[in-house]
Amino acid sequence: MSDLHPTLAGAFQTVLDRNPGEAEFHQAVREVLDSLNPVVAKNPEYADQSIIQRLCEPERQLMFRVPWTDDEGGVRINRGFRVEFNSALGPYKGGLRFHPTVNLGIVKFLGFEQIFKNSLTGLPIGGGKGGSDFDPKGLSDGEVMRFCQSLMTELYRHIGEYTDVPAGDIGVGGREIGYLFGQYKRITNRYESGVLTGKGLAYGGSQVRTEATGFGTVFFTREMLATKGLRISGRRVIISGSGNVAIYAAEKAQELGAQVVACSDSGGYIVDEDGLDIALLRQIKEKERGRVSDYAEQRPNATFHAEGSVWDVPCEVALPCATQNELDDDHARSLVENGVLAVAEGANMPCTPKAVEVLANAGVLFGPGKAANAGGVATSALEMQQNASRDSWHFDHTEQRLDQIMVDVHARCAEAAETYGQPGNYVAGANIASFIKVADAMLSMGVI
Ligand code: GLU
Repeated sequence: MSDLHPTLAGAFQTVLDRNPGEAEFHQAVREVLDSLNPVVAKNPEYADQSIIQRLCEPERQLMFRVPWTDDEGGVRINRGFRVEFNSALGPYKGGLRFHPTVNLGIVKFLGFEQIFKNSLTGLPIGGGKGGSDFDPKGLSDGEVMRFCQSLMTELYRHIGEYTDVPAGDIGVGGREIGYLFGQYKRITNRYESGVLTGKGLAYGGSQVRTEATGFGTVFFTREMLATKGLRISGRRVIISGSGNVAIYAAEKAQELGAQVVACSDSGGYIVDEDGLDIALLRQIKEKERGRVSDYAEQRPNATFHAEGSVWDVPCEVALPCATQNELDDDHARSLVENGVLAVAEGANMPCTPKAVEVLANAGVLFGPGKAANAGGVATSALEMQQNASRDSWHFDHTEQRLDQIMVDVHARCAEAAETYGQPGNYVAGANIASFIKVADAMLSMGVI
């Protein structure tokens, strides 16, 4: 952590005072502000117009009751959230997360990150995030449907293709988006395709959206390695998580010739020295909603480990694709000792600030989530484009668009890092490049 410019220090103190106990939100804000000293010093109008203070205060925060009935007839209550953080660049855009750990602070951290991630894509989307403390694990499709319908019965009045466009995140995939879209359509009596992204291909979804976050993380990693004259082909890769992001990161890494040998879930991790069988992993995780331990039972050379950490598995490329703060400084030291070359965040803020410091000090290439996992939301913006023009693109074309977007995101980060005297520092580059675009848009619009 650096000493902050007085304007940044003041803004940070206000965040601490106004949002007590929201540790993840504080962490996300601090990480961005830590990069902005040279920007504020060079551009005094950002301080004069209180741009930083305004950026740290969401434009709107919604919190509401979500009652639903379980299969036994019992009435259950969850809490729904939507934080509409910043609309300087476009309608609020960001996913919904369904997980028992969701609270207002988590949604704010994710919404804050989303502003900068979305800016980096170069596409016209603002930042927002939402979700619920609902736990879909072990529930029937009918229960998940009733919950989604109840959530949308409140959420519909706040969203719209020009207002706020939710999508998926942890616990929200194709099934949930389908139920949510169906209820929105029913309440509003409008076929407003662009109100949600991550839709099914049968009703306005985009090719590559399911794969996009994982694919994009690997494209970003490829670009980082290329700056050192290195290739991903032949490299040993480990991935945490086994959800949507992890599965498609593994698939693309393998397609580019890497050897992906490990992944995980909340119960432990698996090592498969033969290289992960992605079709089997998908079958277990997506169709059967099973665990990685089930995978190990079905593969002759795979082992399951309930103890220890996936980050102890030696590798050259590590892709944390599970959840926030899953990779700490001890894990980072273990990766460095084992010779890791590059780490790219497929999840949002999976590395702790201390872990990032350890990796940076060891000269490891590090791609922060707001750059490395921007491919998901970027492809959501491509879905919005297709919906607005009532069009639907082929897989290859859409993947090429995604690839080019990730090349551009990488270039924006590298260029800003260079301009502000920190070549190779993708954290600084991502924060600076994305901030300048949002701040300039806000300045143009006056005091709003
Ligand atoms: N939840 C994803 C993210 O963290 C995707 C959001 C979206 O597609 O709107 O970026």
